[in-house]
Amino acid sequence: MRIRRLEEQLIRKIAAGEVVDRPAAVVKELIENALDAQATRIQVGLAGGGIDLIRVADDGVGMTPEELRLAVERHTTSKLESEEDLRRIRTLGFRGEALAAICAVAKVRLLSRPREGGEGHQLVVEGGRVVADRPAPRAPGTTVEVRELFYGVPARRKFLKSPSAEARAALGAVRRLVLAHPEVGFQVHSEGRRVLDLPPVDAPRARICQVYGAAFCQRLVEVELIEPGYRLLAFFAPPEAARPTRVDQHLFLGGRPVQPGPLAAPVYQVYRRYLGRGAHPAFFLYLDVDPELVDVNVHPKKEEVRFRGERAVQDLLRRAALRALGGTVVSLSPPPAT
Ligand code: ADP
Ligand code: MG
Repeated sequence: MRIRRLEEQLIRKIAAGEVVDRPAAVVKELIENALDAQATRIQVGLAGGGIDLIRVADDGVGMTPEELRLAVERHTTSKLESEEDLRRIRTLGFRGEALAAICAVAKVRLLSRPREGGEGHQLVVEGGRVVADRPAPRAPGTTVEVRELFYGVPARRKFLKSPSAEARAALGAVRRLVLAHPEVGFQVHSEGRRVLDLPPVDAPRARICQVYGAAFCQRLVEVELIEPGYRLLAFFAPPEAARPTRVDQHLFLGGRPVQPGPLAAPVYQVYRRYLGRGAHPAFFLYLDVDPELVDVNVHPKKEEVRFRGERAVQDLLRRAALRALGGTVVSLSPPPAT
């Protein structure tokens, strides 16, 4: 699909709100764009916690000069056309706002060459104004460099934490996307040091192993449940591997990291009898759901989703946890109406 401007009516239907509040949000949006562009390798670089520089380079489909110019404008997207599409989103992005929002508050250099042919082109945007627009060499794919985030927005800068805290948050966002997309290779540098170098692998377990190490990974119990409209591949760490925070609780919905929130509450209940206060289980839930059963258009940053049939999903997760931890299934609700 080509990039185009969304219709007014459709714009009004898209969950409004601030997309970019800190470096982690920028990193997330840029990696999502690379994934949507079918990248097989993604390189991420951070300096100054991402406040000074965020660079994301991919080998995806790329953009023509015209597409580049459109991409940085508000409400332009190649991922959504009609209201009908909004009800079954299959891409990570669809709002057409991230690049425009980032360009409005930073110095941004975009460099892209279409995979299908044509030359490389570069666009430099500062505080929302295009200051350079010219050919530049590049292999097929796209690089986006974001410098001096919030340089003209002191009110925003004030709320940023220390570079090391921002780097931690940004790397957390990277880790979630890395776990969600084992089929993509990732190289990540922060402050000149290589922090991740992960070749593509063919299964989620292999990616979890790459990120957490073999010792942790070996102890994960894997459960797969397939039901009409749902496919769950879940990995549960044993209760002894509990953590002091919830950082290692992951839910990936069709390749999108989302907050486990109340959906994972039943998983907690299953673990509860093994865990003391302040101990949080580690688990990785890869859930694929018929896109028509999910509404991702409820949160500007797309971190929360709404399910039609939330109970059915909760029940699915609970049964998976029970199977992994050796409990007994108390009640089975009927399969979801699809
Ligand atoms: P959205 O992802 O919601 O469509 P964005 O502002 O993030 O909105 O991007 C706008 C458009 O720019 C995308 O729809 C896509 O067509 C194009 N684009 C952005 N990043 C890339 C990339 N890395 N590779 C190819 N195309 C991209
Ligand atoms: Mg996007």
